[in-house]
Amino acid sequence: MIILSAVVFAFIAFYSSSTAAHELKGRLTALVDKNIKEVEYDDGELEIDDDFVSFKNGIHCLIFDQDGAKVSGYSPAGALEREPFQDGVVRSVKVGLEPYLLYDRLVAVTKNKHVWVRGVVPEKGSAVDTAAVYRAVLIAVPLLIVLAAVGGYLIAGRSLQPIKEIGKTAEEIRESGDLSTRIAVDGSGDELNRLAEIFNRMFDRLEENFEVQRRFTSDASHELRTPVSVILAQCEYALEDVSEKEELYELIGAIQKQGYRMSHLIESLLSFTRLEQRTEAYSFEEIDLSALVLSVCREQKESGEKEITLTEEIQPEIVLKADGPLLVRMLENLIRNAYRYGREQGRIRVSLKESGGEIRLTVADDGIGMAEEELSRIWSRFYRVDQSRSRTKGAGLGLGLAMVKQIVELHGGRVEVKSEPRWGSVFTVIFNN
Ligand code: ADP
Repeated sequence: MIILSAVVFAFIAFYSSSTAAHELKGRLTALVDKNIKEVEYDDGELEIDDDFVSFKNGIHCLIFDQDGAKVSGYSPAGALEREPFQDGVVRSVKVGLEPYLLYDRLVAVTKNKHVWVRGVVPEKGSAVDTAAVYRAVLIAVPLLIVLAAVGGYLIAGRSLQPIKEIGKTAEEIRESGDLSTRIAVDGSGDELNRLAEIFNRMFDRLEENFEVQRRFTSDASHELRTPVSVILAQCEYALEDVSEKEELYELIGAIQKQGYRMSHLIESLLSFTRLEQRTEAYSFEEIDLSALVLSVCREQKESGEKEITLTEEIQPEIVLKADGPLLVRMLENLIRNAYRYGREQGRIRVSLKESGGEIRLTVADDGIGMAEEELSRIWSRFYRVDQSRSRTKGAGLGLGLAMVKQIVELHGGRVEVKSEPRWGSVFTVIFNN
């Protein structure tokens, strides 16, 4: 600020004094040039018109004859009258310490007679008073610095407010551990507000991940509790009451079954959590969906435990940009459910069609179906319509449909269900192509 103000004042001082000097020269030459027209010889006598101005605005005009003797006029310093003549040149002359501007014009009045007209003006009077400029600088610069400091402090304080807010919120989150806290954003769209929004989005993501982790831990411990207590009970029974080798084998078999169940549960939970958090790298490629559906149907037909007929109606060469293994998992879940909740001697129909840029994949069964009120809940993790019916028919975890939904949404599609108790269910997955 100090340097800048000094530069500005120096510039003003220099510029104003140079323009003042320029203007003074202009006035001096104009007056002299005008006066030379008022001087003439008449019958050998020098005649000066009344219009001759000998003093105006600090400028003195003098007339000298050709021998250099003063004819008329008054000069502020005698030395100025003795200065040699120079036609048409403005020059600076110092008398003592006082600077003056001089300007002479030669006036040829007759063939061999001429006179000199000289203009004299003190240079200092009209030049800018540099001492006054320095005084102004001495007063104005500190004033400007104080104003700039106070103003700068206030403006910086206001513009840094969002940073303080961000710090405060981060501190609050650290202290309380509550990830739902957010920074207040006023929507002005400036950089700091955008930064606050980015932080808020980061908090959203952190909260989401934290919630997924929390749910994983609570789900896992909840789901593992049953098989663990079964294993413990059977171990206790085996240690205390069983002496027969055969019965012991039977108990070990039961314990192994619970072990498999636990391992399957952990495996499913982990893959579901990874899917939910989108932490895995998925490779979306153009895949032949028709061929994929056909091959999954064939595999499921072979492993289907019940006497159920699976028929497929697949429009060939339907291509979708997708992650193949995920789509296989999705379809397997749907067909496995159709078997699991299907009727003995029943039918499952899988169809794949594309029309108007929409791919519809349908898995329909004629099994036990579901009541209307269940349909919105079946997509939640660990939701089973009826614990007893699921457990008895193949130990479902209630993760299958939640996974189907995640996979479909990851591909930008949606999934619908229609079902009626005892008539069966129709699951339709819709992708936009
Ligand atoms: P599960 O592992 O228990 O099958 P899902 O998430 O796959 O879990 O399904 C959730 C619930 O939806 C199941 O408990 C089941 O009762 C019901 N369900 C799923 N598919 C069908 C179907 N095709 N027919 C009838 N009920 C179904």
